[in-house]
Amino acid sequence: MNAHQHPDPVGHPSADDRRSFVIVGGGQTGAVAAIALRDEGFAGRIILVGEEPHLPYERPPLSKDVLIQPERAKVTIHDAGVYADRAIETRLGRRAAAIDRGARILTLDDGEAIAYDRLLIATGARPRPYPLLDALGAGVFTMRTLGDAEALRAAIGPGKRLLVVGGGVIGLEVAASATVLGASVTVIERGDRLMARAAPQPLADVLMALHRARGVTFAFGAALARAEREAGGGFVLTCEDGRSFEGDVIVYGIGVALNTELAAAAGLAVDNGIVTDEYGRTSDPAIFAAGDVAHQWRPVLGRHVRQETWQNARVQGAAVAAAMVRDVPCADELPWYWTDQYESNFQVAGSPEAADWIRRGDDAAARYTLFGVTDGRIVGAVTVDNGREMRPAKDLIASGRVIADLDALRDPKQDLRKLAAALR
Ligand code: NAD
Repeated sequence: MNAHQHPDPVGHPSADDRRSFVIVGGGQTGAVAAIALRDEGFAGRIILVGEEPHLPYERPPLSKDVLIQPERAKVTIHDAGVYADRAIETRLGRRAAAIDRGARILTLDDGEAIAYDRLLIATGARPRPYPLLDALGAGVFTMRTLGDAEALRAAIGPGKRLLVVGGGVIGLEVAASATVLGASVTVIERGDRLMARAAPQPLADVLMALHRARGVTFAFGAALARAEREAGGGFVLTCEDGRSFEGDVIVYGIGVALNTELAAAAGLAVDNGIVTDEYGRTSDPAIFAAGDVAHQWRPVLGRHVRQETWQNARVQGAAVAAAMVRDVPCADELPWYWTDQYESNFQVAGSPEAADWIRRGDDAAARYTLFGVTDGRIVGAVTVDNGREMRPAKDLIASGRVIADLDALRDPKQDLRKLAAALR
């Protein structure tokens, strides 16, 4: 049997394979990787360690449906039976404490020692802490876990004044959900625009107009100097330039801190995440990393890439699992993410840093696509309630070809699929 053939379609472990592959991190990446190891034909022990008490769950609904319509939000990725059927052991509510690389043993916080042949670190990230706000105590929230979302849901509602610190993707999704729930929202952003890390300027402009139309107010260039609790229980945030904002509840989303401590303590190379090769292998060949925490070498680009997206968790989780089983490199992956705010869906692919952005569809159209162009090539795309054009837009980016007729691209009557197919 070659390595590409599955020994058993359900992927049962075999008594002959005495190896243990251990995954640290019970998020999207860890869940995908655990299933993929079995699907790839690995027949030894698989142990998934997660510090949260829940089975792995989807994070995208946390800032949306879990806040707005929790009764409809389904977050669990796989029910327990799916792991049981594949003989994937779980250790939930348990933290990995240390890796003994010489002995190949992972120790958990309760002292359990788990021997591994291969280890995957998919520990992800946590909200970057903001000590100035954390010092205020109750009423200050971050948004990363199911527990965070449930706690925030209990605190916001009609008439509440919500101060959102950070105008990134967390800040805007929470602002939209809280507005829908009847809160009045102010977004306090230190920079001069929204979503600077991941969205092109034209999308930031669209999002700001959308939020303003729903009554959200924005403060830019707002560097906080003081945070105080008032006698009545509310908060006052004051900027260095004297502007101040009052609210009942604070949520902050100012980026993430990567959970690299376990890897760093074990002496693995860490530089903007755990450094890996194109197989997801760290500086120790028995240890792999994937997901938000991995800074993976991309041979085609000639540099390391780290992505904080749901897509990357899924694609890289599966690809690194395959690399662990049968030594195949991870394929290149075009960055892509979406955000839902109010009733609208926005998707972004490729680079947000194009020289120019051209619009496909007339100015009055509610659904349209923006193309980012650098040196005649499409390097990025944004769909606004127009997800059906995302697939051909990705093909246009992937083609890497100079687009001779940009006017054809601007014309929504021209079939984008045909334009993309012509460039293949
Ligand atoms: P972010 O990097 O997207 O945005 C952080 C924002 O906070 C930036 O606009 C930054 O300028 C601002 N900021 C930084 N320090 C500040 C300060 N002291 N005061 C005010 N503003 C400050 O990070 P995020 O929004 O916190 O998101 C965290 C993670 O969650 C990311 O990995 C993100 O990809 C992920 N996420 C993704 C989605 C999605 O893809 N739809 C949705 C939610 C969260």
